[in-house]
Amino acid sequence: MKKFLIAGNWKMNKTTQESEAFVRELKAKVKSNPEDVAVLVPFVDLHAVKNTLEGSGIKFGAQNVHFEPAGAFTGEVSVPMLKEIGVDYCVIGHSERREYFNETDETVNKKLKALLAADITPILCVGESLEIREKGEEQSFVGGQLVADFEGISAIDAAKIVIAYEPIWAIGTGKTATPEQAEDMCAFIRGVISGIYDQATGDAMLILYGGSMNAGNAKELLEKPDINGGLIGGASLKTEDFSIIAEAAASLK
Ligand code: PEP
Repeated sequence: MKKFLIAGNWKMNKTTQESEAFVRELKAKVKSNPEDVAVLVPFVDLHAVKNTLEGSGIKFGAQNVHFEPAGAFTGEVSVPMLKEIGVDYCVIGHSERREYFNETDETVNKKLKALLAADITPILCVGESLEIREKGEEQSFVGGQLVADFEGISAIDAAKIVIAYEPIWAIGTGKTATPEQAEDMCAFIRGVISGIYDQATGDAMLILYGGSMNAGNAKELLEKPDINGGLIGGASLKTEDFSIIAEAAASLK
């Protein structure tokens, strides 16, 4: 059976009160396979979201973390802090963090290792800019990101990571990659992971597509063999749209 994860990246949206109201509605709308659905929320919403999701089966997580366990890092949040709350997932290396907050493959790699040591599932984002795609260099770019991001991570740990292929030109632009473009890159990523580790690790890897996925286009993307779900920004902020995407995945299992 194909594995899926439908993960909503709220970015810097929803106050605690708004997050509670949203999650209450979402619980009622996600009818099948709630364990394949996750909301990735601002740090301040984590407690409320956890409490409101209680008993629903829907997972939750954060959008970033620091790689050091504690210390003089004003404004940052550590892995032990997330662990104590009980998050299931943490997004790492989102293109917005790489672009606006100087996230590099080196810090991504350190964050992956810190999360894996704490048994929190990282959702690692990779993807090329429009400029790189127009030069036809998307595979070498994304391949390079993967080699650097997985540096020094064992096959056993690598298998626990979820990868999100997110072409930067499709994020928040309304311009979705075609199902063929998304499938080509997700299959390529699976091949890179098989090359670094082995075929079994590549075959078992959960690889999501992200970039303007919505209620209208989700099914044809999710039908592709190498796409195991979506990392969804804009369309994850409305329970109606997000639950339609979740149901599309459930219908393909
Ligand atoms: C994202 O933030 O990861 C994303 C894919 O956003 P959107 O769905 O809005 O393009």
